[in-house]
Amino acid sequence: MTAPDTRCDVLVVGSGGAGMSAAVAAREQGASVIIITKAALGASNTGRAQGGIQAALGPEDSTEAHFEDTLAAGHDDGDPVLVRTLVEGGPGAIEWLASIGVPFTRDGDELRVIRCGGARRPRLLQAGERTGAEMVRALRAAVRTSGARVRESTALMSLVPVAGGWRATTLAKDGSHSEVMATTVLLAAGGGMGGEAARIGVKSTNHSDATPEVLEMALALGATGRDLDSWQRHPTGAIWPPGLGGYALPETTRSYGATLHAASGEQFVDELAPRDVVADAIIRTVEEGRGAPAPDGTMGVWLDTTAIDRVNGAGFTADRLAYVHNRYLTQGVDITKERVLVHPVLHYRNGGLVIDEHGHTTLDGLYAAGEITGGVHGTNRLMGNSLLDTVVFGRIAGAAAAREALS
Ligand SMILES: Cc1cc2nc3c(=O)[nH]c(=O)nc-3n(C[C@H](O)[C@H](O)[C@H](O)COP(=O)(O)OP(=O)(O)OC[C@H]3O[C@@H](n4cnc5c(N)ncnc54)[C@H](O)[C@@H]3O)c2cc1C
Repeated sequence: MTAPDTRCDVLVVGSGGAGMSAAVAAREQGASVIIITKAALGASNTGRAQGGIQAALGPEDSTEAHFEDTLAAGHDDGDPVLVRTLVEGGPGAIEWLASIGVPFTRDGDELRVIRCGGARRPRLLQAGERTGAEMVRALRAAVRTSGARVRESTALMSLVPVAGGWRATTLAKDGSHSEVMATTVLLAAGGGMGGEAARIGVKSTNHSDATPEVLEMALALGATGRDLDSWQRHPTGAIWPPGLGGYALPETTRSYGATLHAASGEQFVDELAPRDVVADAIIRTVEEGRGAPAPDGTMGVWLDTTAIDRVNGAGFTADRLAYVHNRYLTQGVDITKERVLVHPVLHYRNGGLVIDEHGHTTLDGLYAAGEITGGVHGTNRLMGNSLLDTVVFGRIAGAAAAREALS
């Protein structure tokens, strides 16, 4: 069955943080918008993010420090113009998210900021422990009230440049095909690391929809990519009990004092070093035969989560890390009493489509935002910078795609 053709000014592909931010921004410019998304609106990696979102809002922080930390963590491979755009957009992005209903955690009147790996100052903001889920909840409501038309359970299958724009072919889960004609298209389909992990048979933190076909489509059309072979592992993937496979303990566990140990008990890395440094150190420790085995023989290292309450006082873990605490409790492990075994797990694509500071790719009328793009994080992303990327560049690219479509 073929549904009737549909036209719009801006077609948004994907409904994570980037797609939903973009759709709202495009509607604010007066453009007609269609979002197509593989599952329910907001089903995405964005909704899985626990750790938080970075922005230079701490009392001793500055966008300059955020800029330098981001470039340094990315091995100076980031595009300085994009990194500048990211960090300078940080405070405004938080203000906007708060205005649409994201309940950022406060201590009294002040936003709570935490120092995380690779950041020289406390800069990580949280909405409880499920920052991504809170963002998705608020963004979904903003999309629903924006007037954007949403096609759920619908995947982009092909994209073809035509006179005056693009023709997209979609496939819905009920098997129906349809076409959308759009003046501009904005790709926000994520980095697809779940699909990459499945291809090579390793565990990943990603949502099951996180497959890379949209990125591959854009590259096949001739869009320029960068750092496409640069992937990031999350340092602390759970390897035991088996029911937690692929789950990553948030990096805030280490911000709050959890320490990493070889089987001998030796500490082997600065727990607040950038993510790739910590992940590489864990892998090296295991390869050198200094790791500790899980009951099924899988090798990892110890993350001593019991240190968190020792450093901060009894009850801290249950309060600040209730989600991870409860996830382990359901598997019979109390992380306040027992340390846990971890090993890095595939997590994030650092590279992607080349964009300029307006989110424009190298193809006419084609925009992109979020994890599908490259250049914002160089070849290693600072934790918390991806959620920020989705909002800052989602909003910029959505507005730019709308302006071009309406011009
Ligand atoms: C477990 C986990 C924890 C994380 N924690 C943090 C954190 O604390 N802080 C942080 O900054 N970052 C974190 N990240 C990274 C961050 O969440 C993601 O990089 C970011 O949210 C990506 O947003 P996005 O909008 O670009 O893509 P996604 O959120 O991945 O959304 C992509 C969307 O595209 C849709 N899609 C895909 N293919 C198609 C297709 N063919 N047709 C139509 N739609 C399609 C998907 O269904 C989805 O809706 C975490 C990631 C994971 C997996």
